[in-house]
Amino acid sequence: MARRLTTSANRWSVAVVGSGPAAFYAADHLLRHDADVHVDIFEQLPLPFGLVRYGVAPDHQDVKNVTERFAQIAAEPRCGFFGNVCVGDAAGAGASSNLLPLPELRRAYSAVVLACGAGADRELGVPGEALRGVRAAREFVNWYNGHPDAVSHDFGLADCEAAAVVGMGNVAIDCARVLLCGVDALRKTDVPEYALAALAESKVRRVTLLGRRGPLQAAFTIKELRELSKLEGVAMALRAPADAFSPAVIESAKGDRARRRIVELMQKLHVPDAADGSDGGAADDGGRRVDVRFLRSPVGFAPSAAGGDALGAVELQRMRLVGEPSVAQRVEADGDAPVEALGCGLALRSVGYRSEAVAGAPFDDQRAVVPNEHGRVSGEEALYVSGWLKRGPSGVILTNVNDAAETAAALLADRAAGLLGGGGGGGEAIAPLLAAQPAPVVDFGGWLKVDAEERARGAKLGKVREKVTDVDEMLRVACG
Ligand code: NAP
Repeated sequence: MARRLTTSANRWSVAVVGSGPAAFYAADHLLRHDADVHVDIFEQLPLPFGLVRYGVAPDHQDVKNVTERFAQIAAEPRCGFFGNVCVGDAAGAGASSNLLPLPELRRAYSAVVLACGAGADRELGVPGEALRGVRAAREFVNWYNGHPDAVSHDFGLADCEAAAVVGMGNVAIDCARVLLCGVDALRKTDVPEYALAALAESKVRRVTLLGRRGPLQAAFTIKELRELSKLEGVAMALRAPADAFSPAVIESAKGDRARRRIVELMQKLHVPDAADGSDGGAADDGGRRVDVRFLRSPVGFAPSAAGGDALGAVELQRMRLVGEPSVAQRVEADGDAPVEALGCGLALRSVGYRSEAVAGAPFDDQRAVVPNEHGRVSGEEALYVSGWLKRGPSGVILTNVNDAAETAAALLADRAAGLLGGGGGGGEAIAPLLAAQPAPVVDFGGWLKVDAEERARGAKLGKVREKVTDVDEMLRVACG
């Protein structure tokens, strides 16, 4: 395994923990703005790119192409990559058996940037959430993206006609699209063969997206909604009260161009609720369809009538908006309305990802972020944070360019002000610790071998790539 070590007297070293967009953009900023810095990227999985590899939808390969830019950054001689190394403690180690405590890393490097993203998800905290069939959207996303932890998930697609997705963000739309687009639309992508086989058997033909607030407050973006509305062979209805697009709502969206355009699109797709506030018993013609249902909040999940722990329905409280129309407008339960049961065999909870604490670093459990000021971790020296772990789980890949630049600029300013101390040797100091790890450590050359192997396997199947989804196999290919 080739390692680039920090040797020159002027050289100083920064460790970046994580290898998704927040990590690579931080590394990029540091490397471009300081000719003496050496940046080492540590990733707990053997392979790089985090949410780009395991979060971006497979039919959005153009978005995944950002990895080409990341590969250029990693190819820079002053950038090292150490895959299959979990920084933290055993509790957060996941698939990796190599552990590097954060204090060791901080001793070895002048500064450490935490950019580990959000590896968990938020729960609803309502009864029945543990029923089989109630799953995190993150699990489904990981599954169709070939994440090693998700390969064996079974979503019961072969026995399920109706699915619900709780949440109105882009992840919810990604899940609805993958559930309904038909397997042929995914065959040439990087969806692994095991997931294609399960999707081919899927009986899901009705997906309902559930939003607790109204259309004006939807979190998804116009490109994603339009794409869902244009899915071939899939009918879409956007169900909301008749006054959901009142002049006051339209007026409030006017100042924000993106919001105005998405409201206009939603208006075109709008199917007003019946006078009693119900959806009037939406007709079922047996075809595939997606209902985007606003002002419904899950209050529980009920088991199927067949008994056991299978999901039968999501129980919904009707909500009403209070106050003047705005994106921040709140809702309250419409107390008079009866709880509605929406029959479904699968419910994906898509209410946001959640970051996890890194052992040895402070963590705000309430907000699930590392407390910081402009990327400087509060109360700590030479410790920084970037991306979702810094600001919470929102924003697209490019949001991380500015976010990471802010963190990297703070780090460089602290270095210029003499606040970082010497640093303990960077790669040279960490090398013996890595050599003592029980499992192989993967460098970027190792990833390039896996990349080539995946593309070759994919070419045989007529697809972009067939991912290696097993950690041991990743290590065999990368280190072989
Ligand atoms: P998100 O955009 O924050 O959406 C979360 C949704 O969950 C919101 O509609 C929110 O409603 C709802 N929610 C939260 N708590 C709830 C509760 N207790 N009950 C019911 N609903 C609840 O999160 P995301 O979809 O996970 O996406 C994360 C980020 O990744 C976003 O910035 C997204 O744009 C980005 N992303 C982008 C793409 C793309 O560009 N194609 C694809 C995937 C993800 P409230 O507003 O009422 O809280």
